[in-house]
Amino acid sequence: MTPPRPAPGPRRERARGGEEGVLPLSARLQGFGTTVFAEMSALAVATGSINLGQGFPDYPGPPEVLDAARTAIGTAHDQYPPGPGIPELREAVADHVQRFGGHGYDPAGEVLVTAGATEALSAALLALLEPGDEVVLFEPMYDSYAAGIAMAGGVARPVPLRPPASGAGPWTFDVAELRAAVTPRARLLLLNTPHNPTGKVFRRTELGTLAALAMEHELLVLTDEVYEHLVFTGARHTSIATFPGMRERTLVVSSAGKTFNVTGWKVGWVCGPAPLVAAVRTAKQFLTYVNGGPFQPAVAVGLRLPDEYFAGIARDLEYRRDVLVQGLTAAGLPVVCPEATYFATVDVRPVQPDGDGLAFCRSLPERAGVVAIPTVVFHSPQNAHLGRHLVRFAFCKGDAVLGEAVERLGRMGR
Ligand code: PMP
Ligand code: GLN
Repeated sequence: MTPPRPAPGPRRERARGGEEGVLPLSARLQGFGTTVFAEMSALAVATGSINLGQGFPDYPGPPEVLDAARTAIGTAHDQYPPGPGIPELREAVADHVQRFGGHGYDPAGEVLVTAGATEALSAALLALLEPGDEVVLFEPMYDSYAAGIAMAGGVARPVPLRPPASGAGPWTFDVAELRAAVTPRARLLLLNTPHNPTGKVFRRTELGTLAALAMEHELLVLTDEVYEHLVFTGARHTSIATFPGMRERTLVVSSAGKTFNVTGWKVGWVCGPAPLVAAVRTAKQFLTYVNGGPFQPAVAVGLRLPDEYFAGIARDLEYRRDVLVQGLTAAGLPVVCPEATYFATVDVRPVQPDGDGLAFCRSLPERAGVVAIPTVVFHSPQNAHLGRHLVRFAFCKGDAVLGEAVERLGRMGR
């Protein structure tokens, strides 16, 4: 019998010196353990705590959308949809983008349906990056970005977003720091607006700066807009793709999860100029090929709901934001009030004197019966200190759950 061949160099090195469990993971993925969302959701279940960690609503989506999915099950929609997504959904995406963003895409070649925004992002990074290519992005950042860049062999060049000094006002970035992050190896700007975890909505002036930079350095732009409809009074979402000269270099990603309260359906899409979308499709077809057969027609129904539906979900969530922000403030936690998304950020130092947000989150089930996410996990190691004292709470929960969470947090430390 032939003995098993020894693993190639780097793997052997890691096997000798490495900790248990390191061996089977490729070098590209070293350091990416279990996602914090899985860890914290498991902690919530194990301790019977209210889960304000992972961002998912505990209320159902619109009945028309749910009914359309039920109707599609047991029909031909149960079989593989076409690779780019069913035409009905691609047309609905294009019409929706036209209606809310004012920019047009051809459903035939400029819209691709994906397995959530996550696959759209990973497939785009795999399709567009050469090993060593750099991706400029803001941090704190949604957790799949660093892993997606690493899987594609790219290098992340994070630029810090800083919270307002007083808690009121937007998170900001330093243009000099941004410019310094763009080296000759920069290939892509990865943007997320409205932004997770900060709840920031990038302003037109900021997008103008980013667009000018992208054009000056010939960067492609990948913009994650999954919270496009969850924007509160006073803020307004704009896609960088609508800026002059940006359409041809920009891929816009969104998904059904947040807009229709169906985060488990994992139906997303990417829109952009045909050559970029074709590149993403090439990678995507070997990741999942297709997904969500019966959910695709249902999401098409959702995207065609009247304007009032989309205004209504933002209003409803704004009310939930206010409930949580007031509750957190009353509990002695200074809050940066979000302009959008599911999430509010607090500074834990008044109740956690060592300022360790991770330790605070690990102790929160015992202290208050609530689970939250430490912002530090959304930072690169070099800037971890910027998020050490910050913690993210989700407010996409029904009245009873949110009310109980606020009450528990109010009792904390008393
Ligand atoms: N991007 C951001 C900013 C997110 O918060 C999330 C989580 N919903 C995703 C992408 C992933 O979206 P999906 O579940 O559609 O893959
Ligand atoms: N987007 C959700 C959040 O930020 C969670 C997604 C996930 O669990 N990967 O909380």
